[in-house]
Amino acid sequence: MQISGPMPDQNFPEYFSLARLNINRCLAPGECPDMAIAAHSVQKSRFIKQLAEDGHVLTVKLDATARNGLSIDLHSVGINQATTFTGLCANHDNAIFSPIEKQEIDFNNSEQLFLLAYRCAVSELHEQMVSAIRVQGGYTNRVRKGIDSGTVPSQACLQATQRLVLAYEAYQYKCTLDAALNERRFKFLRHEVIRVPTQMATVAGNSVYSVDDVNVGDSWLRVHLNVLPISQSETVVVFSYVKDASKKALHHLAPVLSSQDGSDRLKLSQFIIDGCGNTVFRPSFVHSWSHTKHDAVLKYFLDSAWKPQLDRIAEDLGVFALET
Ligand SMILES: [Zn+2]
Repeated sequence: MQISGPMPDQNFPEYFSLARLNINRCLAPGECPDMAIAAHSVQKSRFIKQLAEDGHVLTVKLDATARNGLSIDLHSVGINQATTFTGLCANHDNAIFSPIEKQEIDFNNSEQLFLLAYRCAVSELHEQMVSAIRVQGGYTNRVRKGIDSGTVPSQACLQATQRLVLAYEAYQYKCTLDAALNERRFKFLRHEVIRVPTQMATVAGNSVYSVDDVNVGDSWLRVHLNVLPISQSETVVVFSYVKDASKKALHHLAPVLSSQDGSDRLKLSQFIIDGCGNTVFRPSFVHSWSHTKHDAVLKYFLDSAWKPQLDRIAEDLGVFALET
């Protein structure tokens, strides 16, 4: 695992007090004392339902046990649970996202595109904080049991610190988006919208991922990704990034933006599997894959969880049922 440069001190005390509190606390801009509700990061009624069969979709589940190490599989999950996270209270979830919950999404509307991307950042921050708290909890247990001394830095201590720094960086990044949201500077983010004609809706998801080898300021380039099946015949993929990082972001996205024929759809699929931790699939589509493709997709998910694999020429990882 890699960590970035020096830890900025701005906002750190506020973050630390937040991280110590219950992880179900609302992460809306400013201080909100309310408890978060389980909200969908990808809208259920409009997008996830497009993929569902018998009320279920398939989602990627990464597991780690001391006995078996890391494992990965696709699990069936009900659409009420798919892509949910507890990052915002009911009032803030409604107040912030009503322009994309209650209106049709216009992929030329900068406010709606900003909000789609912002929701990825809140979900990502929540996930990073949960992860940091779990790893910290594991380390605390090791100290309590006497496995680690607690005074001499150990591997477990280093890992816990690294997770905390990653979560703090996600928090810092969200603070910059909070400021843009509060001031309605929606053009703070830029977006690349790719429309994929499909035979049926097969995939949905969202995330923010870091491009680790591309620096922006004190941190890395971050790219927001939304994969939204707006109907059975069209899925819209939106990449978003901070406007000031446009040049670097466009260079990173060049393989999926340069042309959009069949082979680039495979490259787009590769970007989605690489960057999207929060992906759901249509069950019958996954069941139609050969064993070779099923294993290749899962292996790619696992490999890219540690390190981006975008330079790799991947096998068939196609996540769309393309029109022929
Ligand atoms: Zn709130």
